Amino acid sequence: MKNNPQAQFAIEAVCKGAQLAQQIQDEIGASSITKSDRSPVTMADFAVQAFIGAQFEKYFPNELLVGEEEISFFEGSHGEIVLKKVVDFVRRYFPKADSEAVRSWVHRGASEPAERFWTLDPIDGTKGYLRGEQYAVALALVEKGEVQIGALGCPHLTPEGRPQKRGSGAVFVAVRGEGAWGTSLQKMKQLHRLSVSDCADPKRACLLRSVEKSHTDVERIDRLLEALGTSVEPIFMDSQAKYAVLAAGGGDFLIRFPSLSRAAGQMQIWDHAAGGLIIEEAGGRITDIDGKPLDFTTGRLLLRNRGILATNRHLHDVLLEAIQKILP
Ligand code: AMP
Ligand code: MG
Repeated sequence: MKNNPQAQFAIEAVCKGAQLAQQIQDEIGASSITKSDRSPVTMADFAVQAFIGAQFEKYFPNELLVGEEEISFFEGSHGEIVLKKVVDFVRRYFPKADSEAVRSWVHRGASEPAERFWTLDPIDGTKGYLRGEQYAVALALVEKGEVQIGALGCPHLTPEGRPQKRGSGAVFVAVRGEGAWGTSLQKMKQLHRLSVSDCADPKRACLLRSVEKSHTDVERIDRLLEALGTSVEPIFMDSQAKYAVLAAGGGDFLIRFPSLSRAAGQMQIWDHAAGGLIIEEAGGRITDIDGKPLDFTTGRLLLRNRGILATNRHLHDVLLEAIQKILP
C-alpha cells in the first residue's frame, strides 16, 4: 500500500477533500441548493469535486473520473453565484483558480465509465452533512468491473471507526488483495488495520441503517429484523461512513432494500464502490440482496444489482436466506 502511488493519491485526495468540506461547514454552515432531481447539493459537493478533479489534472491527467456532480448546475444567474463561492473555497488549495478552471475540474467527473476509471462521490450523505452528522468523501478505482482501490474521508469517525462529533476525523483505505486500514485525517501517521466483527448470531447482530427513510424500504427492513428476532438496537447513520464502521467491527451488517422513491430503486456506483472494497478487505462480504456480486460494468448505475447486503461474512448466508423469505 505504501508503495502504491494510486492508493497514496486516493488517501490524499479524500483527506484534503474531507477537510475542505469540513472547513466550508465550519465557516458558512451547510445550506442546500436543490438539483433538478430534487436531491440536495451543497457548495461543498462542488468544491470537493473541483478540488479532486484538479488533483487528477495535476497527478494523473490521463485517468477517467466519473463523479456525481455536473457543471450544468452552474448555468443561470443562481448557478453563477454558486460557482463564484466555490471558486473562493477552491482557492484555499489552488490560489490561482478561477471560474473557468473550477468549471473544468468539476467537468472532469463527466467521463463515462470504461474498462478503467475512478468514481467519486464528493459528499456522500449530503443530508447527513446538512444535519452536521455523518458523511463521507468517497473515491474508488474500478478496473474491468472490479473495485481495486477504495478510499473514504470521514470527518466524524475515529480511525477505529467510532462516531465522534468533534475530533480529527478519519480516512479509510483498501487495496484489493492487501487489506483495509484507517488513519487520522489530520496526521495520517499510524495505520490501523480494519477487521470486521465475529458475530455469527443474527439475534445479537447490530444493523447499520440509513437515517433517511426515503433511501430504502424501511418497512421491509423492520420485517427482516422481526423475522430474525434481532434484539440489538440498530445504529442509524448516513453515507458510506456505515461501511467504514462495519469494516472496523462497529456493527455487523447493513442492508439496502430497493427504495420505493427512486426509479426501480436504482443505485449509483459511487455510493458503494469505495466502501464495498473496504468491507471486503476487512474480511466482510458485500453482495446485492439476491447474493450477486456488485457489477460495476453497467455504467453510472448498478443496473444488474438489486439492493445491497454487506456483512461481517459470518452472517451473510443466513441473512440472504432470511431476505429471500420476505421478498415478493
Ligand atoms: P444513505 O445515507 O446510506 O442512505 O446513503 C446516502 C446515499 O444514498 C446518497 O449519496 C444518495 O446518492 C443515495 N440515495 C438517495 N436516494 C436514494 C434512493 N432512493 N435509493 C437509493 N439510494 C439513494
Ligand atoms: Mg452519495
